[in-house]
Amino acid sequence: MTPDFISSPNYNARNRAIDTIILHYTGMESGQAALDRLCDPGAKVSAHYMIWETGEITQLVDERHRAWHAGLGSWQGDSDLNTCSIGIEIINGGHNFPLETGELPPYPDLQIKAVIALCQSILTRHSIAASRIIGHSDMAPARKEDPGEHFPWAQLAKAGIGLWPDESAALVSENEAAELPDDALSIGQSHSMIRPLKSRLRTIGYALADGGVYDKELAAVLLAFQRHWAPEYLTGYPCRESLKRIEALSKSVPNFKHQPNFRQQEG
Ligand SMILES: [Zn+2]
Repeated sequence: MTPDFISSPNYNARNRAIDTIILHYTGMESGQAALDRLCDPGAKVSAHYMIWETGEITQLVDERHRAWHAGLGSWQGDSDLNTCSIGIEIINGGHNFPLETGELPPYPDLQIKAVIALCQSILTRHSIAASRIIGHSDMAPARKEDPGEHFPWAQLAKAGIGLWPDESAALVSENEAAELPDDALSIGQSHSMIRPLKSRLRTIGYALADGGVYDKELAAVLLAFQRHWAPEYLTGYPCRESLKRIEALSKSVPNFKHQPNFRQQEG
């Protein structure tokens, strides 16, 4: 029997309201190993919830507190994501512990059902925009890969959790993509479609410097986008389908100002 609550010491006080959910995989060989680490005062990491393969949920930190799960990164102009987010660790070996076939270990149905139910209950308790339900890799593309391209984000979106692009909203990227033959762009190269692409990715929430060059930062952000919203095109390259989904998604995100506390100001 999995305990409902095991207290982790790895938290402190929030300084603003909850408006974000960040999903992670544990990336360890077992749930117990992950649990031990998330409760180890020396590790200085935690999460509010852990979801086991069976769908059982263990809470580690009260939602009122600031759990230490996000680390360095940024989303929609916020860099202290721990202070405004709920962190959910989903037990899965991920890229660190692939199957013998080399594939990523699948998330069992019962576990995904539990993720959906937990997120739905969080959404009844806190005001969280769909565009602020993200993966760890979205806020830290250069550092993190979790919850991975094998995580069923589309299924969550169907259940009302998070955004999914409506490709009929993509109007210009089809033409932009036509200018760009597949795999013709190498790192360090400039192209006229890069500047609008970076701007749309920033609108979605990714932190990216301006400019017209396909650089390593952009490739990492594209990979993070693809893990979440285009897992069948996982290349870090701005392929036609990725460009369409990026444009479509950018149109469904309400404008935010690039300043840390804008949501707080909005109340
Ligand atoms: Zn993570």
